[in-house]
Amino acid sequence: MGATELGAGGSITIVPLTDIFEITIIKIVLSTWQVTRRGACRSDTNQEERNVGKDISQAVIRRLPRYYRYLGELLDGGVERISSGELSARMNVTASQIRQDLNNFGGFGQQGYGYNVQHLYEEIGKIMGLNERHNIIVIGAGNLGQAIANYMNFEKIGFVIEGLFDINPSLKGRTIRGKKIAMLEELDAFVLHHKVDIAALTVPAESAPSVANHLVELGIRAIWNFAHVDLNLPDRDVVVENVHLSDSLMQLSYNIMMLGSQS
Ligand code: NAD
Repeated sequence: MGATELGAGGSITIVPLTDIFEITIIKIVLSTWQVTRRGACRSDTNQEERNVGKDISQAVIRRLPRYYRYLGELLDGGVERISSGELSARMNVTASQIRQDLNNFGGFGQQGYGYNVQHLYEEIGKIMGLNERHNIIVIGAGNLGQAIANYMNFEKIGFVIEGLFDINPSLKGRTIRGKKIAMLEELDAFVLHHKVDIAALTVPAESAPSVANHLVELGIRAIWNFAHVDLNLPDRDVVVENVHLSDSLMQLSYNIMMLGSQS
């Protein structure tokens, strides 16, 4: 299952579901980083630093994990360099789009050579913060919370589940991939003693706003929100990334209709 995008010529591109999760989590990292950099760059005169601090469009951010994945596959296949034209053919993105996207970060290609695959892979990884560890806690250890904690691929790209919290006493002490589910009362002490970068919010919609506010009070700056509710958090340096699988289903439905109307 995945999200859909209508490509050139009306074809439908399926974005794998794992990408949807990875894209949203990476968007959180980039947004947190942009919030930080914006402050840090205010008096900076260095051009590269300014590029790092500028807002990158969501469309570019959405493509970064795809670049990373394709480059990883090329590396696995022993490919050392690639032109933007070849990369474009593989990814179904135009070569000029690739150049424009990468120019947001200073560009990495060389005229007449193309891109060094290893270098580009590592640089895109750094841009997405994948060279650093990001500790996640899951609030709401029900079906979705446990599924997220069970999904090992996040760890491979540096996103590590450090704790799970719930209010249901029957879940207390249950272990998910080596982590014991703790009760919500233990959250404050946990945050005091552990570095928490991201909180995944997988509680019912009615509980989500108050839980999210409490997370912000505890100093957590990134919320990966799965509850079907808009979180109106205090205007602080907090980033929220909403993940709504039903939205991507509706997008799929719309794109199916569009495809039908074209044929
Ligand atoms: P679930 O009922 O299995 O799990 C929710 C858990 O949250 C329960 O264990 C419950 O005890 C716990 N909880 C309730 N209030 C809490 C609080 N204040 N603090 C901590 N824990 C609390 O539900 P689920 O199927 O895992 O879904 C979780 C949430 O994710 C729901 O809001 C659901 O609508 C949403 N959801 C979103 C998507 C999506 O695509 N975004 C997909 C599925 C579910």
